[in-house]
Amino acid sequence: MRAPSFVSRVAGLFARTQGSGCAGDASRSRLASRLPGNRSQPSQRARQHPLLIGLSALNTSFAGADETAIERSLAFHHTHTDEQLSVTYFADGHYVVDSLFRIDHLLRDFRTGEIYPIDADLLDTLHILRSACGGGTFEVISAYRSAATNAMLQARGDGVATNSLHLQGRAIDVRLTGCDTARLREAAIALARGGVGYYPVSDFVHLDTGRVRVW
Ligand SMILES: [Zn+2]
Repeated sequence: MRAPSFVSRVAGLFARTQGSGCAGDASRSRLASRLPGNRSQPSQRARQHPLLIGLSALNTSFAGADETAIERSLAFHHTHTDEQLSVTYFADGHYVVDSLFRIDHLLRDFRTGEIYPIDADLLDTLHILRSACGGGTFEVISAYRSAATNAMLQARGDGVATNSLHLQGRAIDVRLTGCDTARLREAAIALARGGVGYYPVSDFVHLDTGRVRVW
């Protein structure tokens, strides 16, 4: 069965990059201004997920691994601006601030040009999913959305939420090259790091760092 093994790979990667004592937690706290709101640490959420608990317990090969040595990279192609970015945003145990700014710029509100800090936890979710898929480029449909843009879309009847996490830089609508979007959805659900919405007609998934929920 292809799907379960893919989910297992996701869980394994998650255990490696987000285990307890991960240096990323400290880096994240230093970048607290990028992380709006009071939310539980993703590593805590992950440990609560039965699937991940089971697989992490079985997976001992990562025990003692130097997690600070792991680099986290992402590649984007914005479908509206046609801009591309391939970047390592975490290295040597730290988030790379210059890379985060470059990501913020690419994921800006493409309608108004407004830039907003994108939640580093959301980037980690993307990194884990991309790694599980063996690479690929995230094709971005929408990321940060300003209040003005959100109101415009609402007035147009596009079905966007008033309190959408897109307004806080905590949500993104994407597909991943080389990865069927249904599989991407399945992996994101298994990861259980936030909301996962599936839009098969438009062929993208919505990912956010809010409560774990599926639609
Ligand atoms: Zn969305």
